Amino acid sequence: MNAQALSPELTARFGPDPAQTFRANIAAVEARIDQACKRSDRDRSSVRLLPVTKTVPAEILRLANLAGLQIFAENKVQEAQGKSQELMDLPVRWAIVGHLQTNKIKTLVAFADEFHALDSLRLAEKLDARLARDGRVLPVYVQVNTSREDSKFGLSPNDVSGFLEDLQRFPRLKPKGLMTLAVLSGDMGMVRPCFRLLRELRDDVSHRFPDVSELSMGMSGDFEVAIEEGASVVRVGQAIFGSRPTPDSHYWPEVSN
Ligand SMILES: *Cc1c(COP(=O)(O)O)cnc(C)c1O
Repeated sequence: MNAQALSPELTARFGPDPAQTFRANIAAVEARIDQACKRSDRDRSSVRLLPVTKTVPAEILRLANLAGLQIFAENKVQEAQGKSQELMDLPVRWAIVGHLQTNKIKTLVAFADEFHALDSLRLAEKLDARLARDGRVLPVYVQVNTSREDSKFGLSPNDVSGFLEDLQRFPRLKPKGLMTLAVLSGDMGMVRPCFRLLRELRDDVSHRFPDVSELSMGMSGDFEVAIEEGASVVRVGQAIFGSRPTPDSHYWPEVSN
């Protein structure tokens, strides 16, 4: 809360009163969510705002918590774990939304509350084993490559149904829904079909897997379109925390278009 305690670097990036800035940004994002819900005749309560906090330092996340945020989503497990330890005293939860290497499973299971990038059976099997050891379950979202770019993580749309079938072998994993990153483009004519495909995939499997009901899709640049197409979780970073110093290619392979 005390702006004077912030370094000049952090003040330059987040402003003199980050909590106030975040409150205003959250209000603006909420207004956009409301509008998108109204346009698509959806109830606001059917959409969850998941704040994405990668590159935002723990001391700034304290101020974000003060501004009302109680869950933080991170792309990289190691970064998330460091922050979760620094913020142990706060009642915040953690979501991992980026690709997970099997050597990071133990770390994730130690602190994460949900995982949005399940993309292989090998990973599912090892996650399940670790969860059993630690005596817990984990809500997961199955990542689907809806843009059909080779550079993206995620299952091929054709494999989703069989994958969900196979996941039933792993009782510690609680599949909640599907997740995708749309093509990174300002052209909503290209983005919308990615979201629509994810919804159609969910609809196709919903009779056999009624618990797989959620759609984790939409980021700062496209969450309104995602809501129009049925998103139940929007993962929003920059619209709340400002632009990042690291390029997105640090988090997912560069897209050529
Ligand atoms: C960073 C990230 C987001 C949020 O992107 P913004 O442009 O900051 O809104 C969403 N999903 C994933 C997987 C991310 O890594």
